[in-house]
Amino acid sequence: MPMTSAVKSSFLTLCVSMVLLLLMLSACTRPGNDIYKQQVFAFGTVVEVSIWGLDQQQARQVVAELMSGFEYLNRTLHPRQGGSLARINELLPHGADFSASPAVLPLIKQSTDLSRKSDYLFNPAIGSLVRLWQFDQMPEEGLKPPPAHAIQSLVDMNMTMENLQIKGISMRSDVKELLLDFGAIGKGFAVDKAIEQLKDMGVDNAIVNAGGDLRAIGQPGDRKWKVAVRHPRQQGMIASLDIAGDESVFTSGDYERFYEYQGQRYHHILDPRTGYPATDVMSVTVIHHDATTADAAATALFVAGPEQWHRVAKAMGIKWVMLVDKDMRVHMNPAMAQRISFTGKPPEKLILSDVL
Ligand code: ADP
Ligand code: MG
Repeated sequence: MPMTSAVKSSFLTLCVSMVLLLLMLSACTRPGNDIYKQQVFAFGTVVEVSIWGLDQQQARQVVAELMSGFEYLNRTLHPRQGGSLARINELLPHGADFSASPAVLPLIKQSTDLSRKSDYLFNPAIGSLVRLWQFDQMPEEGLKPPPAHAIQSLVDMNMTMENLQIKGISMRSDVKELLLDFGAIGKGFAVDKAIEQLKDMGVDNAIVNAGGDLRAIGQPGDRKWKVAVRHPRQQGMIASLDIAGDESVFTSGDYERFYEYQGQRYHHILDPRTGYPATDVMSVTVIHHDATTADAAATALFVAGPEQWHRVAKAMGIKWVMLVDKDMRVHMNPAMAQRISFTGKPPEKLILSDVL
């Protein structure tokens, strides 16, 4: 009997989870290396936790604690299935007041602030548009772009977080089409929560790395943490960075989730002004103190593109940016240029901006 796509994708998820469980069980402190590393599967990606300064047994217990936090947030922030955000998305179209889960309200408030600062280029109120493009259904075969008129009618509604009325824990939406999607910030939020949890457990030196997006605290002994920035078009990395202290490095890329239709590539970062995937950029990397802001900013600057990233970064309080545009030109502010080391030969076209 042929499998339905839903069954196929649950089966795939099960297989991936089993493989990752095995990986997790086999995690260990590598010989000759005092950094404990363990990989777990969360947020649709491999999350690697690195801890320095604990013995293996303590570190393993710490990671087990983090796992339950990841699972909880993964459920809570899913836009369609089973958790608090899914419930909010079911209630928003009714236009009446309801009580929003305290698990999601702080993120709604922080997102509203970041969305405003980004000139609404980071816009978690475009959940209906994300759904229309079916990026929330991937991996799936046979996806194709939605009809232009359907995109345009959602764009014309100009939905933003300002359409939400929030008083205490009570909220409602002015627009019945508005749905929330925290795909652009949820990973950052979860990484911040994990770092908070680590600090509460007395862990001072660690990295939580969710598929290349990470926050680091402390340092491994007298060294610095070295982190890699992925090349947007080739296997491997484009550059590396030294991190010490408490900093996050987040990259948004057009290679993370995309489908091809009639020879054209449609990726998952949408320009809320047009309703189509943002053009002109392949990846944006930002460094910032907290991961939530870094995640939202990487998405916003991706949408802002080579002409407007500097203005938006300033408004969002971001001090380090690297943007790789569609022609492989690398744009950076001078402070970022001082910190980054390119792997292999440096980019042919490097464009330095004014200071941020
Ligand atoms: P990644 O970390 O996967 O590279 P991002 O952090 O940039 O991606 O988030 C992309 C996701 O955010 C999309 O899959 C979608 O759910 C949502 N999204 C897409 N465009 C926007 C936007 N302009 N503002 C807010 N969220 C967006
Ligand atoms: Mg993001």
